[in-house]
Amino acid sequence: MRSKLVVGNWKMNGSRAANAELLSGIVAGLDGAEAACAVCVPCPYLHQSQELLAGSKLAIGAQDVSAEQCGAFTGEVAASMLREFDCQYVIVGHSERRAYHLETSEQVACKAEAVLRAGMTPIVCVGETLEQRDAGQTNAVVSEQLGAVLKLLTTADIQDIVVAYEPVWAIGTGKTATPEMAQEVHAALRAQLRTRGDAAADRVPLLYGGSMKPDNARELMAQPDIDGGLIGGAALKAADFLAIIHAAK
Ligand code: PEP
Repeated sequence: MRSKLVVGNWKMNGSRAANAELLSGIVAGLDGAEAACAVCVPCPYLHQSQELLAGSKLAIGAQDVSAEQCGAFTGEVAASMLREFDCQYVIVGHSERRAYHLETSEQVACKAEAVLRAGMTPIVCVGETLEQRDAGQTNAVVSEQLGAVLKLLTTADIQDIVVAYEPVWAIGTGKTATPEMAQEVHAALRAQLRTRGDAAADRVPLLYGGSMKPDNARELMAQPDIDGGLIGGAALKAADFLAIIHAAK
């Protein structure tokens, strides 16, 4: 059985003072939590997070990575560097990276591979825009995005990824996919994973992301193919993030 996973994506938010308060607040409320949990912080705060979270149940992640190993790539951060700060997870292919940095599904796949090679878990984000959903293209879009990753990775590697379905129209908008809408896409993603073997389909956690909040988290995560959440805005408040973690059973 897959255990639940709840991951916070801080995006470009935080300060040393605010992080210290937020992280200590989350750690203080984790007793009894059944889900695995992590926060993906901006790179400058990896060291602070590493020090504050040492020995805690809250894992550390990053929000992006270079597909390159090292060298003349100004401004980029290599997977091996993230690993040095005890990162366990790296988000790749977030819709904001695809939209603002024109990342292609092939580039996202290369980033996922770089993360795995460095001993971490890539959280591969997929999701459609509102125009694509209205045009009936949801399954085609997410299938192309996941397909590029499944094409590049080995069967063994695929078993070690996490996939996050994040409808672009639900991110930061307060509009959430209904549990039924989300489950339908998750089931299609699970079926696509199964084309690479039962182990991949049965092991890979499928997270939902897009305005997940304490009041809708339980119902979303009760769906058979929703194994947790990728949380943006609600991950910036300790009480809200904790409520979502505790809703994941
Ligand atoms: C996200 O950006 O990954 C996200 C899910 O954001 P929010 O929860 O704010 O919609």
